[in-house]
Amino acid sequence: MIHEIAPHKLHNEFRVQSPKPSDFLVVFFGDKSLLKKNGVSFEIPKIEDFNQGNIPCHYLFSIDDAAYFLADLSISKELVESASDDYVLCPARTYRYMGDPLLRMGGATAAHIAHWESLNRFCGRCGSEMTRSEKERAVVCPKCRNTVYPRISPVVIVAVRNGDKLLMAHNIDNPNPRLFLISGFVEVGESLEQAVHREVLEEAGLRVKNIRYFGSQPWPFSDSLIAGFTAELDGDDTIHMQKEELSEAMWVKREDIPEYETDVSISCCLIENFRRGFTLE
Ligand SMILES: [Zn+2]
Repeated sequence: MIHEIAPHKLHNEFRVQSPKPSDFLVVFFGDKSLLKKNGVSFEIPKIEDFNQGNIPCHYLFSIDDAAYFLADLSISKELVESASDDYVLCPARTYRYMGDPLLRMGGATAAHIAHWESLNRFCGRCGSEMTRSEKERAVVCPKCRNTVYPRISPVVIVAVRNGDKLLMAHNIDNPNPRLFLISGFVEVGESLEQAVHREVLEEAGLRVKNIRYFGSQPWPFSDSLIAGFTAELDGDDTIHMQKEELSEAMWVKREDIPEYETDVSISCCLIENFRRGFTLE
């Protein structure tokens, strides 16, 4: 999964520090990042790539000794407009496909923070311009002291098993045509387990039992933290698919499931875990 970078380490504790020329500079404009072309791939630019004096930017985090900075919104338009043809604005999902696992993790995490900052320039309570806190990762209203932390919305995803079959589905919004699993945002007032019950019932019309925690994954592309579960069908196996959410939902036999790469998402890890023969107790 993207966040599994051991033995390398993400240092995400809040710090205030100045950039070095070799540090990464994430330039976020609209909902896209400015990336440097490298053949058919992309790189995250560094401070030294820009012919500017002191670029207004702030420290985000480090991976090992490599620090990531985010260009202030006040300068990002100028940086984008003055960039050479070697640079291109890319959606945050581009980070997902970067070959270097450290750049993939660093870029995606930086884009998550940048997206949150871009949505919180003004106070939602009184409309004043927000300022960055000097003691924690938050923005603060100087007038009414409203404090806003990065948005991390919980999501559940579940591998529902029916004997040697797995419940697989395709979400209508997913450009990837492959089948994945039932998932959804946790609603107000419910636990993770209750969200699993509700999502499976809503999207596939099925009941589940024996819900077991599998693992979790930060998913910056939807400002989420995904909690993965396994579960077992409880009762009738007739699928009633929610057509507003899914284009397909079906039981797939273990031997008919193709191999899924496990280096990016917890969804693929759950599918592979079933395909390779996990059993519920
Ligand atoms: Zn305010």
